[in-house]
Amino acid sequence: MAAAIMKLVNRSSQKTFMGQLCIAVTAAAKASTAGVKARAVLPDKVKIVEVGPRDGLQNEKIIVPTETKIHLINMLSEAGLSVIEATSFVSPKWVPQMADQMEVMSGICRKPGVTYPVLTPNLKGFQAAMKAGASEVAIFGAASELFSKKNINCTVDESLQRFEEVMKAAKEARIPVRGYVSCVLGCPYEGKVAPEKVAYVAKRLYDMGCYEISLGDTIGVGTPGTMSVMLEAVTKEVPVNALAVHCHDTYGQALANILVALQMGVSVVDSSVAGLGGCPYAQGASGNVATEDVVYMLHGLGLRTGVDMSKLMDAGTFICRTLNRKSNSKVAQATCKL
Ligand SMILES: [Zn+2]
Repeated sequence: MAAAIMKLVNRSSQKTFMGQLCIAVTAAAKASTAGVKARAVLPDKVKIVEVGPRDGLQNEKIIVPTETKIHLINMLSEAGLSVIEATSFVSPKWVPQMADQMEVMSGICRKPGVTYPVLTPNLKGFQAAMKAGASEVAIFGAASELFSKKNINCTVDESLQRFEEVMKAAKEARIPVRGYVSCVLGCPYEGKVAPEKVAYVAKRLYDMGCYEISLGDTIGVGTPGTMSVMLEAVTKEVPVNALAVHCHDTYGQALANILVALQMGVSVVDSSVAGLGGCPYAQGASGNVATEDVVYMLHGLGLRTGVDMSKLMDAGTFICRTLNRKSNSKVAQATCKL
């Protein structure tokens, strides 16, 4: 009797084991199919928007000499980057680091096929950018009301209205406009930001005529979880091929967030050579994701970027030596370039 019971127990546990094995195998097969699917939707080519000379240097403590900026931009175009945000046409009263915008624009060697967008917060800035020969400009809005209020002292809607005259002038001059949305995954004042609010601001910029909308995790608090939820909401309003992601690496999540965005169909990534820039809301924290690290990951995934890694590393070494700072790029640190 006991032996019969043992046999039954064994058989049933064997059954359970086989069942579990079956479930595990099915799950693994499903996961591998999902992996293949995720890989299959990755774009073959990724456009990198290099923001080091503007977003990066603007957030560095010291004012970088004009010659250094020009040399950096030239090294970056030589490295194969096709979009390099060069400077900002804001009042030097607000951003003294960018007071030499005219000299920078006239000093760089403009490589054919490379665009050098500049930030233009108002019509005056736009007109100055045109005088400097800019062929693309960028405007910006926040997804957080408190961030907008504290930074530019107006509501998100009011800030977008202010760009209408820039958009009109750009349309007349046939100048493409890129739109930035900041605080898409969190705000230093509001905390969580609703994905629907991000989608609303992105759609407004798109409807105003921006050809590309860069979604910025300004304080770098996002994770692949929040990134995918936010992108799901935004892609309902704006076509995914008009979206870019702009990740900061404050919490070490930038590459993971970028990968999720790529898997969701985004093929434009903002980054900054040597991870230039800081985070004004988290002292000592790293800023923009480093271009070297993004390129390393993309090439590892077999995706084309057009970037020559060794020339890019040289540009990173150059700017870090000049600024006397350590590179924030993990790839640069690992290869002991500094
Ligand atoms: Zn940034």
